[in-house]
Amino acid sequence: MLPFKIVYHPGYDLNLGAHVFPSQKYRLIYESLLHDHIALPEDFLTPEPAADADVLLVHTPEWVQKLKSGHLSLQELMHLEIPWSREMVDAVWLAAGGAILSGQRALADGFAANLAGGLHHAFPGHGEGFCAVNDVAVGIRRLQADKTIRTAMVVDTDVHQGNGTATIFAGDPAVFTLSIHQENNYPFAKPLSSMDINLQDGTGDEDYLPILEKKLFDALEEFHPDVIFYLAGADPYREDQLGGLALSIDGLKRRDRLVFDHARRRGIPVASFPAGGYARRTEDTVRIHVNTVLAARELFGRTAGAA
Ligand SMILES: [Zn+2]
Repeated sequence: MLPFKIVYHPGYDLNLGAHVFPSQKYRLIYESLLHDHIALPEDFLTPEPAADADVLLVHTPEWVQKLKSGHLSLQELMHLEIPWSREMVDAVWLAAGGAILSGQRALADGFAANLAGGLHHAFPGHGEGFCAVNDVAVGIRRLQADKTIRTAMVVDTDVHQGNGTATIFAGDPAVFTLSIHQENNYPFAKPLSSMDINLQDGTGDEDYLPILEKKLFDALEEFHPDVIFYLAGADPYREDQLGGLALSIDGLKRRDRLVFDHARRRGIPVASFPAGGYARRTEDTVRIHVNTVLAARELFGRTAGAA
């Protein structure tokens, strides 16, 4: 049995069919964790969809209404880059509910993994890049509204910059946003995060890991969050179809360990999210995400949450 909970719902699948975004990966991660005896059925928690009131802590009433009714303009659909469907909307509301539950469980247990979300390209009033609702921002705002946290840090290691998250928390001294990403990639307009780390094309493990370690250390010296929301994107992988970095599968696991180790040593709870992953072979994407849970198991044992 794992020393923390994994949050999963079959409805996480955005039902995209043959799309570069393999949204069936959430189910495949779940099945792999069970099949490989990494997790038992009792290690999983099932989230409720977020309440509209929670989504409205981040998003405009107009955008929420458009998503719920399906009345999106052609331009809005083009920015979103995924088709509207009732399943898609239900899935992102579930992802946001999962982000809330993961944040709550991280505070209780020191760590929690949500198997969906990290939809960091969603802005308050529009969606972009497969992201309709910024689940992580909803999770943070709900924990703040409940007064279970005051401050939070987003550590976003997806290969693409977290433009929606940066915009949502811009000028908010209670939330620190760190994004480490490929500079020469979508989104080409990069609103400022609290800390942006722009990497050159082809950056591999041996350059990436020391840079992340130094910058994360600097960020945690400057800012003391009550919780870290960690986007463990699989798309810095060297065989990713939408990424241009060159990390190995082992390097990505070392990245996860590095983030967890720094958080654990400072007694900061972590909730993790898969974010992107578009490897030519979906099984590589799934393995990278499964490795995040394995890295957490190594770092967040019995002493989880203890400083
Ligand atoms: Zn990405």
